[in-house]
Amino acid sequence: MAASAAQQPIPPVTTLRGVGPALAARLQKLGIMDVRDLLLHAPLRCEDRSRITPIGSAPAGKVQIEGEVVMTDISGRRRRMLVCVLRDGTGSIELRFFHFSPSLRHRLVPGSHWRCYGEVKTSPSGREMIHPEIQPATGQAGHILPVYPATAGLSQKSLRRLIAGALGVLEGAPAWLPRLPAAAFPEELAFPLEEALRQVHQPPPASDASAYNEGRLPGQRRLAFEELVAHQLAFRSRARVHAEENAPMLEISQALLQQFVDRLPFTLTAAQWRVFGEIREDLGKTVPMGRLIQGDVGSGKTVVAALAALTAWQNGWQTAVMAPTELLAEQHWGTWSEWLAPLGLKSVLLTSRQGGKERGRLLAELLAGKVDVLIGTHALFQEEVRFCRLGLVVVDEQHRFGVDQRLALKSKADQEKPHYLVMTATPIPRTLAMLRYGDMDISLIDELPPGREPVETRVMSEEKRPRLIAILRRWIVAGRQAYWVCTLIEESEALAAEAAEKTAVLLQEELDGLRVGLVHGRMKAEDKEAVMAAFKAGAIDLLVATTVIEVGVDVPNAGLMVIENSERLGLAQLHQLRGRVGRGGGQSFCILFYRPPLSATAQRRLAILRDCHDGFVLAEKDLALRGPGELLGTRQSGALRFKMADPVRDRDVLPRVRDAAEWLQRNAPEAVPALLAFWLGEGNRYVDV
Ligand code: ADP
Ligand code: MG
Repeated sequence: MAASAAQQPIPPVTTLRGVGPALAARLQKLGIMDVRDLLLHAPLRCEDRSRITPIGSAPAGKVQIEGEVVMTDISGRRRRMLVCVLRDGTGSIELRFFHFSPSLRHRLVPGSHWRCYGEVKTSPSGREMIHPEIQPATGQAGHILPVYPATAGLSQKSLRRLIAGALGVLEGAPAWLPRLPAAAFPEELAFPLEEALRQVHQPPPASDASAYNEGRLPGQRRLAFEELVAHQLAFRSRARVHAEENAPMLEISQALLQQFVDRLPFTLTAAQWRVFGEIREDLGKTVPMGRLIQGDVGSGKTVVAALAALTAWQNGWQTAVMAPTELLAEQHWGTWSEWLAPLGLKSVLLTSRQGGKERGRLLAELLAGKVDVLIGTHALFQEEVRFCRLGLVVVDEQHRFGVDQRLALKSKADQEKPHYLVMTATPIPRTLAMLRYGDMDISLIDELPPGREPVETRVMSEEKRPRLIAILRRWIVAGRQAYWVCTLIEESEALAAEAAEKTAVLLQEELDGLRVGLVHGRMKAEDKEAVMAAFKAGAIDLLVATTVIEVGVDVPNAGLMVIENSERLGLAQLHQLRGRVGRGGGQSFCILFYRPPLSATAQRRLAILRDCHDGFVLAEKDLALRGPGELLGTRQSGALRFKMADPVRDRDVLPRVRDAAEWLQRNAPEAVPALLAFWLGEGNRYVDV
């Protein structure tokens, strides 16, 4: 398949009749380069042209009518306009054209019959339709008509014509069209791909318009299914690189385990024990582990990962721990050292601030096997970072890392690949996790350590700012600390930083005599860390921050958080932010500050957050309110973009998608490259897992 697909490339749009360089350039604006792009240019919805509405009873809004021309005239003093009266047995209506060719006037002769599609409006002179689409009446039933995303200079009509041309190409049964064995997913594959594409682009007469708009036609379902399978396979193919390789078999003794937990200042929850049990079983195999620990903020994922590192160490293998920011790397280093150093493990932090000499020494120790746990950011992937025997990789908040980086970790023990453990606090509904993480196994820490009180959440209008300032002052005077999170309307980190700077200045004025600090993503790493260190040490009372604090920072005394513009954030993100408070130290509060007026949806969202403290329930609700890209952490990168599928709408098929992908990989791997090339295009690799 792969070979034949390569021999017969997908024809570019310019091979279609009537497509010259100018039209090709316009198509390119829509991301359409070749015939495949045209075939997968999914309609947004359809217009129902299957029915003809009697003119007399046509409601306001878009309808299709058919009638006989009674008269046609040109009128208008300032602006010439073609007016035509159309009549059927039930009534009459005026058609008005502001732009018209002389020939139109001659074609709309009294007595001729026309079909018109357009919006019915009521004017002082009666009902009218402005610039309807018209065609000679046929007397036959109409179609439902797909409506495409379009661009300037490219009408729906020309898109339909071009796509019809692309459908024509399919008649030659091109080799680049994926062909899957029917057994892969029998139900859907019973509907041939060509036919499904035709159903989407040229729905047959009598198709149900509302079924079409909801993606329920069998052809639509079939395409969605195949596309989801392709995405699942793209996720899987990387993880599979792993599964085919050998990993060290790692086992921990009961005695060492006991020693570790005896020293902890708390007892592990049942959920933590269960998840470690699952990890322990994986590590005991020679197949590399690929496991995702999902757990709400504060559920205690870190200690479970540290136990895995301890297991690696007892067998003589090193662990790499990756955090998304230097700040978090440092925090990890602090906790891991505290837990592991007494048992004899050496944990080392690799940062961008270490000078050449110190760095050289660390790297030499790493290569010599004198470092047991190396903690850092993506800097761990640099060429000169070489492990002696890398047995385990722990990734915190993984979606910020690239897969190529993942594979680039180097170890002298090249014949054996490390086990992989990923921690995420992003609560992804199970169905979506299945798609996102391909064949990773998932462990869930679904229990918070005892004694955690839910963060009391309040919704407050910006109009009450003076009251909020008074609350803040009282809170801080009582010896506590707080966060003020600035979120931005614009998506630019530069603007967010600027806004945060202004907010900090203003708050410092309002909270005269108290210590206001500022941290944002545009600051240099060392400045950020200096501020965070000061906040941790209690030298800053109120920390103004952009959403950079979203992940992982742990300051128990900071039990109050104000989130500005909270109405603009997703539930999941708000919940993550809120998780920064409520980390011990008594009752904690989160104030969702909003700028009135609040839309009904925003009101509902904030109320949900106020009343619900379960990240997974929130994620489910978020999923219903927002798109899946948001939840999957791929919105920025745009990696998870579907053409025909909608994983929210089509979530019922996701379990079968996983089965189908597995089946194909096992039984028809030769069919996979063409499938990926067709659905995901040339760059058919995800880079942000
Ligand atoms: P997250 O899952 O958000 O990464 P952490 O691993 O950072 O959570 O844990 C949050 C806090 O809870 C840390 O201070 C950690 O030491 C503490 N913790 C972890 N497990 C327990 C437990 N079983 N009982 C009490 N506190 C715990
Ligand atoms: Mg964490």
